[in-house]
Amino acid sequence: MKWETIIGLEVHVELATKSKIFCGCSTEFGGAPNTHCCPVCSGMPGTLPVLNKKVLEYALMAGIALGCRINRYNKFDRKNYFYPDLPKAYQISQLYLPFAVDGRVEYTTRSGEKKVVRIREIHMEEDAGKLIHSSYGDYSYPDFNRCGVPLIEIVSEPDMRSAEEAVGYLMWLKSTFEYLGISDVKMEQGSMRADINLSVRPAGSDKLGVRTEMKNLNSFKSIKRAIIDESQRQIELLEAGGTVIQETRKWDDNKGKSFSMRTKENAQDYRYFPEPDIPPVLIDDEWLKSLARSLPELAHEKRERYIRDYGLTEYDAALLTEKKQLAELFERTVALCNDPKETAIWMLGDMMYLMNRDSVAAEELNIDPYQFADFVKAVRNGIINRTVAKSVFEKIFASHDFNVEKYIEDNNLKQIDDAGRIREAALQVITENPKTVEQYKSGKTKVFAFFIGQTMKKLHGKANPALVNEIVTELLNNSD
Ligand SMILES: [Zn+2]
Repeated sequence: MKWETIIGLEVHVELATKSKIFCGCSTEFGGAPNTHCCPVCSGMPGTLPVLNKKVLEYALMAGIALGCRINRYNKFDRKNYFYPDLPKAYQISQLYLPFAVDGRVEYTTRSGEKKVVRIREIHMEEDAGKLIHSSYGDYSYPDFNRCGVPLIEIVSEPDMRSAEEAVGYLMWLKSTFEYLGISDVKMEQGSMRADINLSVRPAGSDKLGVRTEMKNLNSFKSIKRAIIDESQRQIELLEAGGTVIQETRKWDDNKGKSFSMRTKENAQDYRYFPEPDIPPVLIDDEWLKSLARSLPELAHEKRERYIRDYGLTEYDAALLTEKKQLAELFERTVALCNDPKETAIWMLGDMMYLMNRDSVAAEELNIDPYQFADFVKAVRNGIINRTVAKSVFEKIFASHDFNVEKYIEDNNLKQIDDAGRIREAALQVITENPKTVEQYKSGKTKVFAFFIGQTMKKLHGKANPALVNEIVTELLNNSD
């Protein structure tokens, strides 16, 4: 039987405000345990939370970017549960009236397929603390630094059908929040993490199967593996005549397997009730409009513009816009050299190669757009050939203070376009290699590349390749 996998994602994103959602404590990652805490976020009785306006502003920006309808009257609720990393024994969240509903995300998967995922809702909430498990004994220490760090939770409809579609959606969210500047989206630090709801059903069926949930996955790689593994597990179970039970499972990335944790809770298990300490949130119309107007151009909008105005392929445009820093470098360079295609070629080819080779992240790139633009012009105008250009680009990549024009001048790297000099070098190669010439004449045309290579070598790799090709062809075919 053919099966279909149904995936919905709940994505938690920490907002990059300086202070916490209901108190003035720092949200900075790390810090000695329990040093970013006060009576409010450590849950002392008698304290009162006050909503941080910046949190609301960032949350609204996310809601607008995800095409949601904003509830201009929304409320907070208490989600009650007991766990040692939650000192109040409840989390302030939004259940009944979240701030954003009915959104829509449109993106292209890695294999080029267009995809739409509907957003059911986005709500604001506070993060919980952490438990540090002792390596000496059977006990743990609570660290409340993360208590009260602002989060938004984005709940999708079950619209994804494969790991690739899920990762594509998450990448869209990640780059959108990065462009908006509302989160650092560092998955490895947990500032963006996903819960996966997954079920399977016979292909063609319109009834949803029983779903499981895997919580807190924080890398694309583990999300991909977890989806593939869980989908396979459910299919095997059903094909063997078993049933899937609704439960929360824990994904163990080292073992490459998930394990049953507990049967899934429902909303009523949390005894939700309206948060009595925070008044309803009323959003001013004008403020909302001005926020919508102030949104920057987002990754997917840039991508469309690069395809439309610069004639880049969808794939290239996607790579260049995936990170804000790459798009900035690209746009600043193009503004100076007015050659988007050549700029894209070097960024996607040599630059990506060097970033990978030297483990340089986009945030750490140190290329000066002025030098990069001079370089692009030098290549375009044939001042240096592509072989020489590769080594020059490596210098630009390595140093911000590099001067392209001076370097080309000082090292005498200009392309040799002098046909006389090229002819002279080619003739030398031909005279020095009579046997190879014989081979060529007897039909072994493969050795042609040898003459090109040797002629280039005599000219220190700086000759105009098209001219070398032309002259060597002529000389070989006309010599006797
Ligand atoms: Zn606090």
